[in-house]
Amino acid sequence: MPAECVDTLIIGGGQAGIAMSHQLTLRGRQHVVLERARVAERWRSERWDGLRFQFPNWSVTFPGFPLPHSNPDAFASAAEIAAFIDAFARSFAAPVRTGVAVTALRRAGEGFLAETSAGVIEARHVVVATGPYQRPDIPALLPPRDDIVQLHASAYRAPDQLPEGAVLVVGSGASGAQIAEELTRAGRQIYLSVGTHRRFPRRYRGRDLIRWWTDSGVTRTPVEKRGADQSPVVFSGAYGGHSIDFRAFVADGMVLLGRAESVDGDIMYFGDDLAAKLAHGDKAYFATLDALDVLAGTDMPDEPDARQRLADPACVTHPIRSLDLRAAGIGTVLWATGYGFDFGWIEIDVLDPTGAPIQRHGVSEVPGLYFLGLAWQSALGSATLTGVGNDAALIAERITGSCRVGTE
Ligand SMILES: Cc1cc2nc3c(=O)[nH]c(=O)nc-3n(C[C@H](O)[C@H](O)[C@H](O)COP(=O)(O)OP(=O)(O)OC[C@H]3O[C@@H](n4cnc5c(N)ncnc54)[C@H](O)[C@@H]3O)c2cc1C
Repeated sequence: MPAECVDTLIIGGGQAGIAMSHQLTLRGRQHVVLERARVAERWRSERWDGLRFQFPNWSVTFPGFPLPHSNPDAFASAAEIAAFIDAFARSFAAPVRTGVAVTALRRAGEGFLAETSAGVIEARHVVVATGPYQRPDIPALLPPRDDIVQLHASAYRAPDQLPEGAVLVVGSGASGAQIAEELTRAGRQIYLSVGTHRRFPRRYRGRDLIRWWTDSGVTRTPVEKRGADQSPVVFSGAYGGHSIDFRAFVADGMVLLGRAESVDGDIMYFGDDLAAKLAHGDKAYFATLDALDVLAGTDMPDEPDARQRLADPACVTHPIRSLDLRAAGIGTVLWATGYGFDFGWIEIDVLDPTGAPIQRHGVSEVPGLYFLGLAWQSALGSATLTGVGNDAALIAERITGSCRVGTE
């Protein structure tokens, strides 16, 4: 059977793939979106039930298609975000084929050939939109054992999914911090191994952080001005939205640990870096307050309480360097240790030695091959729902521009 031919093939039907489809539709360009599961699959099956979007409802929008809501300052659930992406796709009849996985992509003449679970497709242009967070990363630290369930944050759904007993959460980025809090509130004994992070104030001087960032242009910070510190950012939309303060978690019963370093039998060993990790997080928090003070000028109400810092609890002043997992009653180790790329199916010389795509603002060195939805692809907001449309528009311009040149 001859291969199907399309002008542009978009791989992935998450927020990025749908935003790309929208931009090509606006320009009248023929294209197809292939999604191996369902539209917005990761918001359906790889996020936990209690997750709240980190951006308030008023700020969540695709171009010309805002999130419907009854409270602008509330934070949407993962299910609401999935339904919103689905509704956006339907609003312009995005040509999405669900349940079709691309298993290989290679060059063919001046275009590309994609092997899929539903046959072969030839394309003149390809936009890879398979997500910034593709493959769960779990360090090879704890061998499998019968008495402890190990799972990655992407497989966590709700507290009652976990077996009885204490939970060791490894990692304190957006996922680890929020899941550890949720489990503590559910009455679980939580041990949290804290990594390098930057914590930000949820609100300051009467305004949400995203309002400050949107109005001052921070969300549009170009990748060329990205700071050297690329550690994960923590603040939460759960429970009405709040700043994360790990010392406050201790007051609720959580035990903080340094970096998980090694395991010997029942004993897990932790680094002597907990105080330093918390200090690093604090530094980002107070630097943000300083920056917002400059933006606020003298017109807005002051908020001195935001600068109060809780005293270091005993687990910080006298760090626990080893934990007997059995004696501590650990029934689950939850790895909130991040994600890696999984581009092994791209049989084109476009990846660097770490497996990351070589691209600038989503444009690769291979003519006609683009990436969309990568973290900091062109700007701070590139991998966010509201920001991805800007990058999609840039790529659509490239695709339509290159077409005009080719047909003149
Ligand atoms: C815990 C967590 C919380 C987050 N919270 C926020 C937030 O509050 N606000 C925000 O803006 N961002 C948030 N993000 C970041 C980001 O917006 C999401 O990860 C979002 O899902 C990225 O959308 P995407 O379309 O780029 O990729 P994805 O949602 O990952 O979509 C990629 C799609 O490609 C499909 N796919 C993959 N491989 C193939 C293949 N070979 N063939 C066909 N289809 C394929 C997948 O099934 C998937 O549906 C969060 C991320 C995480 C992990």
